[in-house]
Amino acid sequence: MVIRMSYSRVVEQSDQAIRELTEAGEQILGYIYPHFPLEIAMAHGLLPSLVRTSPSAGGGYESSLQTFACSLTRNIFSQRASGHLTTFSGIVFSGNTCDSLQNVGEVWRKRFPDDKTFRLTYPAAIPSESSVTFLAEELRKFSVAIDSEFKMPFSEELFKDAVALISEIRESLQMLYAARVLSPKLLEYSTLSSLITGFLTAPTTSVLDNVLEIRSSTMEDLEMQVDRDLVSELQNAFLRKDLMDIGKFDESISIRLLLVGGMIETNALSEFLKSVPNFSEDMIILDLLSYGFKTAFTPSISLVGDPFENSARAILGSLGEPTQEGLSDRVRFLKEILSKLSINGLIICEQSFCDPDEFEAPSLARAAEDLQVPSVRLPIDPELSDRVRLEGRIQTFLETLM
Ligand code: SF4
Repeated sequence: MVIRMSYSRVVEQSDQAIRELTEAGEQILGYIYPHFPLEIAMAHGLLPSLVRTSPSAGGGYESSLQTFACSLTRNIFSQRASGHLTTFSGIVFSGNTCDSLQNVGEVWRKRFPDDKTFRLTYPAAIPSESSVTFLAEELRKFSVAIDSEFKMPFSEELFKDAVALISEIRESLQMLYAARVLSPKLLEYSTLSSLITGFLTAPTTSVLDNVLEIRSSTMEDLEMQVDRDLVSELQNAFLRKDLMDIGKFDESISIRLLLVGGMIETNALSEFLKSVPNFSEDMIILDLLSYGFKTAFTPSISLVGDPFENSARAILGSLGEPTQEGLSDRVRFLKEILSKLSINGLIICEQSFCDPDEFEAPSLARAAEDLQVPSVRLPIDPELSDRVRLEGRIQTFLETLM
C-alpha cells in the first residue's frame, strides 16, 4: 500500500531518518548541487545526504550573504544560522556552478569555521573527454580531502557495493518515470517524488526496498495495459537523451504537462500543484528537474577501469544544468519531449533569484512557442512565500489549456 504524505511530513521524515542514522553511528556528508558523487562518498564509509531546504526557515533575509544569493542558498544558510543542520559531519559546496553556491560556501567557512566543509569543482564545458578528465581529477582531490579530514580511506569494496546499490535504485526510478509517461494514472507524481526524496535523503537498502516494492506493483498494473518492452525503450531513450526512435504518444489525456527547471524539490512542487483548483496529478507526464529526472537518469558507473574517471563520466552523462554549457542540446531534447510525448503545456520552474534558471527560461519558453505549446514561468522559493499569486497563475494557465 502506498502511503501519501504531505511535503512538511516528508521533510519531517527526512530529518528523522537522518537523526536515526546519525544515532546509529553513520557519518552524514551533506551536499547541495545535485550531481554529487554519491558512490565516492560511500566508498569512504560516509552516507551522502542532500541538504534540504525547509519550508519553515526564514530565508528571506540573511545579511552575511551577497544580495545576488538565490532563495535556495538563503534558506539553507538561514537554517544553519539558526542552529540547525548540525547532524551533518561535513558539507560539500560546489565550485564553478553558480555565484550563489560559491558565495554561500565562502561565507559558511568564515561564519562557521568549525564545520567541516569541502569544495568540489565541476567543469562548465559540455561533456567531452577533457571535461571528464577535469572532473576525474577534482573527484580524486575530493577523495583525498575526505580521507585527510575523516581518516576514512577510499575502499574499493565499499565503492563496488555503493555502485550496485545506487544503480539499482536509479534504474528502478527510471522505470517508474517511464511507466508514468505510458500511464500517468498508475503512479501519483507525489509518490514518485517521495521515492526520490528518500533516495536523496539517504541512499540506503531500506530506500531500495521501498522503491522495489512500488516498482513491482506499478509494473504489474502496467503490464495489464501496455507491453513491458515499451517501458525499457522509453527508459533507454531518456538515458540516451534521444527520442527519435520513439513513436508519438496519443493525446487521450486532455492536459499533458511537462515540468522543467533547476534545483526545485519535486515534493514541494507536487504538493503546491495539488492545492491548485482543477489540478490533477496525472496531468504531469514528466519532469526535467534537477532533483527529479536528472537525479534518476544519471547513467550507472562502470566498474571496469579508474573509479574516478568512471564516476566523472556518469555524472557528466546526465542531463545538463542551466549552470553548464550545452543549452542548444537541452533545447533539442526538450523539443523532442514536447513533440513525442504530446505535451500541451510547459511549466518552467525557476528558483527565485537563481541567475542560471532566469537565463535559461526564455530559451525554454521560445522552444515551446516554436511548437505552439503554451508555457508559464513559475518563480518559486522554498517557503512558498508567494503561494496565492502562483496558484492563480497556474489556475489561469490550466484554464487556457482546457
Ligand atoms: S538555485 Fe540556482 S542560484 Fe541557487 S544554487 Fe541552484 S543553480 Fe545556484
